[in-house]
Amino acid sequence: MSRVHALNQLSTRRASGMSRSKGPLVDVHTHVYLPRYAAELRARTAAPRIMNWTNPAGKAEERLLILDGEPNAGRPVGPQYWDRDEKLQFMRKHGIDISFVSSANPWLDFLPAARADSLARELNDDLEDYCSTSPEAEGFSGLKTLYGFGLLPLVPGIEISHILQTIDQIKSLHHVRGVIMGTQGIGKGLDDEALEPVWEALQEANLVIFLHPHYGVDSKAFGEKSNGHVLPLALGFPFETTISITRLILAGVLDRYPSLRIMLAHSGGALPQLSSRLASCIDHDPVVAKRLKHNARYYLGQLYYDAVAYGPEELDFVSGIIGRSSRYGAGGGQYQTQIGSQRLLFGTDHPFFPPLEASQKWQSVEDNLGAIRAAHWNGLGVAAQDDVMGNNALRLFGLSQ
Ligand code: URA
Ligand code: ZN
Repeated sequence: MSRVHALNQLSTRRASGMSRSKGPLVDVHTHVYLPRYAAELRARTAAPRIMNWTNPAGKAEERLLILDGEPNAGRPVGPQYWDRDEKLQFMRKHGIDISFVSSANPWLDFLPAARADSLARELNDDLEDYCSTSPEAEGFSGLKTLYGFGLLPLVPGIEISHILQTIDQIKSLHHVRGVIMGTQGIGKGLDDEALEPVWEALQEANLVIFLHPHYGVDSKAFGEKSNGHVLPLALGFPFETTISITRLILAGVLDRYPSLRIMLAHSGGALPQLSSRLASCIDHDPVVAKRLKHNARYYLGQLYYDAVAYGPEELDFVSGIIGRSSRYGAGGGQYQTQIGSQRLLFGTDHPFFPPLEASQKWQSVEDNLGAIRAAHWNGLGVAAQDDVMGNNALRLFGLSQ
């Protein structure tokens, strides 16, 4: 279906009062543990694992432990992590038209290479099935409610050729439009030279790379006082993403593969706030000063960002940083008002951050939607809100052709 056709259908829904939003609402940050993956976690005796336990009220439940020494013995886990009907129900509750579902962390990181390799392919096939058999998105004939990000066997000891074969597999899966990737690469991070053919293949395949954290930063930095999951999630996660994408930039990957489409979790973590400092540190460092084609600020305009930032001021800030990037290309350029709002995309992080009462709308989702509505967007108003809420996603993932 053409994008114009999709948008015409929406105008009709709007005019007839059927739609509660001005455009499609598309969630690009929403997770699943596919049943095959949940079974893998249940079979384990060390983190990451799903284990049985009896809660303080004496009720038997399953619990998800994704890191060694995780606070509060991990977190409760249930069908919202693997049952597709729960995902669809969550989408209906919040008026989400289409979701791009990705496996939740820690992906395949903990597996030996041969197992990661076979499981990646099986899970990619499962994901294609999960999406291709989902209902049609209401008001978008020809589009499904669910699309996905596949997995690559990014683990130590893997043959690069096997990663490339998995990229080929994903290219053949119509509803899998990208890959979700952690920050470790095949053990040495994303600036590892061994990954060069992987970037080349991902660029060539035009797949969207969703860069997502898992490990946070050294927990010693958080001290000994218990603050539950607050510090690892609020600070550890975004700093992990920040370091990982910065290393990628410093390695020149975005110079060599300028058409790579990378979307950063949690609105890019601290990178937008620190990008001028990064540029200054590069300028003053004899080792890297001449390595990059552009000023560091430029690369922020080459990236995409989820809008999981929870506040309008944060969204406007990130949008402004993206908008200014064009000034910093070699040769200079103008500030581009609209590009910030064209590179931010609504997300929920479902099923993490659930509300305390099952019947409630999710506060985290309401906060992120409210932030998009309340942001100033350089005066672009509703057009920018519609882009961030869904039109950008339709464009980025090629659902407009
Ligand atoms: N959000 C995620 O995606 N993963 C977590 O582990 C926690 C929050
Ligand atoms: Zn997430």
